[in-house]
Amino acid sequence: MGLIWFCWTAAFFYQQVWAAPRSVGCREREDMSKFWHISDLHIDPTYHVTEDRTKVCYSSKGFPASDPGVFGDYMCDSPYKLILSAFSYMKSVDPEPEFIIWTGDSPPHVPADKLSTDTVINMISNMTHTIRQFFPQLPVYPALGNHDYWPQDQLPPNQDDIYQAAARIWSPWLKKDALTTLRKGGFYSQLIKPGLRLVSLNTNLYYSPNKVTVNMSDPAGQYQWLQDTLELSKQSMEKVYVIAHVPVGYLPFAKSTTAMREGDNEKLVEIFRNYSDVIQGQFYGHTHRDSMMVLLDYTGKPVNSIFVTPAVTPYRSVLEKYSNNPGVRMYLYNSEDYGLQDLWQYYLNLTEANQQEKPTWRLEYMMTKAFGMKDIRPESLHELALKFEAPGSKEFQQYYTNYMVSYNDTITCTEECKTVQVCSVHFLDHKSYSECVQKVKGRDFKL
Ligand SMILES: [Zn+2]
Ligand SMILES: [Zn+2]
Repeated sequence: MGLIWFCWTAAFFYQQVWAAPRSVGCREREDMSKFWHISDLHIDPTYHVTEDRTKVCYSSKGFPASDPGVFGDYMCDSPYKLILSAFSYMKSVDPEPEFIIWTGDSPPHVPADKLSTDTVINMISNMTHTIRQFFPQLPVYPALGNHDYWPQDQLPPNQDDIYQAAARIWSPWLKKDALTTLRKGGFYSQLIKPGLRLVSLNTNLYYSPNKVTVNMSDPAGQYQWLQDTLELSKQSMEKVYVIAHVPVGYLPFAKSTTAMREGDNEKLVEIFRNYSDVIQGQFYGHTHRDSMMVLLDYTGKPVNSIFVTPAVTPYRSVLEKYSNNPGVRMYLYNSEDYGLQDLWQYYLNLTEANQQEKPTWRLEYMMTKAFGMKDIRPESLHELALKFEAPGSKEFQQYYTNYMVSYNDTITCTEECKTVQVCSVHFLDHKSYSECVQKVKGRDFKL
């Protein structure tokens, strides 16, 4: 423990000064491995800085950009330069991570008539090539997002041109079995190494705006497949990391709202509870903000750590009050039991990058250090989430600043905002979530 503490302290100091923990001249613990998580690149090829702010990018949908610069604008999706700066920073921090998980959404937020099946496929392909240019030998495990389809959100429960194209584009990363289910329903599983399996779900099939799969009890047979896959892993003594785009649970910013259809959320939570001893981590994107959840079992015991990674795109819609800075993150895990050890969040202060015309990516926080935790396993996340409940909790204020990727630390979250945030961390099913929201309302517990 002493050695780790020294390593992390040294790494943190080094980052403040030079921004690259890998070069710290200290031995990493041998039983620790690392992987990157990237999400929501949302490239906007139309982005360009010009006098007329309503013409900077299609993704602002005619609204003026806020303060456009070479690395982007909070009203726009990502210029290619921003995406390149993220990958080149990742490479400088750690040229040899073990693998990358990539949870989808390559095309921009633009009206349907600005895109087509071909342009969406091209954007997925371009982003894939960009990643391969930076990390040619590295295994990358992608998941499809609701924007990786045309028209957006309508991912179908059967074979389809975009699933076929994804299987072709990602064939350097995925094995034959994985490509077979990817072609049929947009999901797959693959062994990362003996004892550790990755399951990439197509949760867009359960996404509320998806009209194609509405009223289907098991679109593409993914529930059955997931249960069979987890059962097989259990019997083979494997551990599993689950990745997907649309997250399970309740949204941290909208009261009593699940990202998926509520019935699908209930089903998925039940499967995850039944196989919580097999699943060692769940990783999502889609909300563009940094948040966590802890799955509790039927007795209230914390059994799964769940993370939603912030986006690379700084985009916000005109209706949102705040945005996020671009972010990428690294996870550290125990190579023996695959339990999650830490999360290192990196970010780009977009305003500063534009002013200096230089992208200075930095460490935003190391989770164990920021919150004084020993690891990020379910018990530790549970303890942290309980601290959030205290009125005026410093931990919660820190969590909320991280939520926006340090976009603005003067924005506070109290009362209803805090209720919605805190209840979403601990309660993923309808019954327990409603009880949480009610309890706060009835002042059984104060936030
Ligand atoms: Zn997105
Ligand atoms: Zn999305």
